[in-house]
Amino acid sequence: MILKCCPFCGGEAIMKLYGTGIDRYYMIHCGNNCGALMTDEGVKNHPECDDSLETKRIILINAWNKRTQTRYQMVKDSLNFNN
Ligand SMILES: [Zn+2]
Repeated sequence: MILKCCPFCGGEAIMKLYGTGIDRYYMIHCGNNCGALMTDEGVKNHPECDDSLETKRIILINAWNKRTQTRYQMVKDSLNFNN
């Protein structure tokens, strides 16, 4: 599953696994350190989420990728508006 680039600066997105034992979770952040960050907040409440770490990983990647598309669309729309 491909992780799309940062929605703010276009930098490489980096996913890391944090925590220990059953308290492990994934986070995605921007490799350019522009401050873009997505935690697994909201992942636990996702209807397709079970307790599997792999499921949480996939939901998080989907959320990040979706957000990227939305942000690109917003930038595009604002450029059109200014023209
Ligand atoms: Zn960035």
